[in-house]
Amino acid sequence: MAISTINPATGETLKTFTALTDSEIETKLELSQQASEKWRKTPINKRAEVMIAAAAMLEQNKAQYAQLMTLEMGKPIKGAISEVEKCALVCRYYAENAAKFLADVPVATDASASFIRYQPMGAILAVMPWNFPFWQVFRFAAPALMAGNVGLLKHASNVPQCALAIEEIFTKAGFSTGVFQTLLVGADKVSDLINSDRISAATLTGSEVAGASLAAAAGKQIKKVVLELGGSDPFIVLGSADLEAAVTTAVTARMLNNGQSCIAAKRFIVVEEIAEQFQQKLVEKFAALKVGDPMQPDTDLGPLATPNILKDLDYQVSQAVKDGAKVLIGGQRLERPGNYYPATILTDIPPESPTAKEEFFGPVALLFKVANIDEAIKLANDTPFGLGASGWTNNKAQSDRLIDEIEAGAVFINSMVKSDPRMPFGGIKKSGYGRELGRAGIHEFVNIKTVWVK
Ligand code: NAP
Repeated sequence: MAISTINPATGETLKTFTALTDSEIETKLELSQQASEKWRKTPINKRAEVMIAAAAMLEQNKAQYAQLMTLEMGKPIKGAISEVEKCALVCRYYAENAAKFLADVPVATDASASFIRYQPMGAILAVMPWNFPFWQVFRFAAPALMAGNVGLLKHASNVPQCALAIEEIFTKAGFSTGVFQTLLVGADKVSDLINSDRISAATLTGSEVAGASLAAAAGKQIKKVVLELGGSDPFIVLGSADLEAAVTTAVTARMLNNGQSCIAAKRFIVVEEIAEQFQQKLVEKFAALKVGDPMQPDTDLGPLATPNILKDLDYQVSQAVKDGAKVLIGGQRLERPGNYYPATILTDIPPESPTAKEEFFGPVALLFKVANIDEAIKLANDTPFGLGASGWTNNKAQSDRLIDEIEAGAVFINSMVKSDPRMPFGGIKKSGYGRELGRAGIHEFVNIKTVWVK
């Protein structure tokens, strides 16, 4: 894929970039190694100072960064501004908490002293997607850099200006040269990077195919990997739920980021006693969404990020219809410039059909009716993915069952699934492994060293 900025709202190519040559990559890897040797010895309070400066830069320039994201990948501007604010939050969170998370942990043994010490691993390669072009990077970088690692970013090829802006933020905030670098390279260079002795570990957020490819390359080199991949999150509504709150949240949970979020609610599983009401309200609310220019603050639904995503989504919907799905609203791309797809609801999809188990990465809701909680849990778990799940009920016993029995990295009751710097984030099954955020997130890229003094 060419490294370029193409406005998804118009299809216009605004800027193209030349990928780094092998020798330019080599120079950056060398710089990264030199930076690593110094940065790992930099006291944690000094690391925190520059991390807070990065947070301040994000806050001061949030309108500018938000516009860049919207320009490159089409997310509605109000969501882009919130994304920048959240990046500042994660920087502050790790600046404030890293020393506590990384402090030696004494362990009582028969030694005169025995404890756990957390030490940096070195240079970490981050292969990142376009969907949250700032957030995905900062949620990796804030803990990884606070732990004393250095970062190398291979961002998605359609958000090069975001990638360069992020490098500039770290540099201007005072991180020494080479602590965080952007590599403008295509996906074809990822294996070579993993093979380099100068890279210690890697993280990838994106598709299953990309994750498997990176993990295979890292496996050959015995290098640690964290994978944050796709999801087909269930949104389960049971009879005792507050229906109005559930439907209102359902719309946000599906439409966030024009439907292109790994933790978006994608399969709506509703018990029969309230299914008709839920369906009717959902159709009304989808119909009321304002589709348009993502730079306008009142736009709810902008374009998909690339023409390929639009083509794939259109094809998936047509396959679902062939499988027996009924279209309640939307269902075909919009005839206008840009990668626009309307808010769409599909129902009556046979649960065993292939499309019922796929991830729909766009504004398409799959609506299923079930008889009871047993069927709801069975259907929710009948997917290769296991990222998040949202359950709606005011019955404690039912809530306990959802928490215990849903196969996912996160279960949210009476709320949509969302990431929070204070809580771990990640999936099971084909949604990946490892965790970002919280205490667990900063421990992914450290050497957990056992120290024993006789
Ligand atoms: P993608 O192809 O996996 O891209 C994500 C990142 O991985 C990009 O930096 C991409 O680089 C790189 N990449 C692609 N193929 C690779 C490979 N074989 N080896 C190493 N790196 C590779 O994702 P996408 O095309 O943007 O979206 C496709 C699907 O991914 C979506 O439908 C969705 O299922 C999933 N997805 C999930 C998330 C999430 O947050 N969990 C985010 C985005 C996408 P290039 O851009 O240079 O190709």
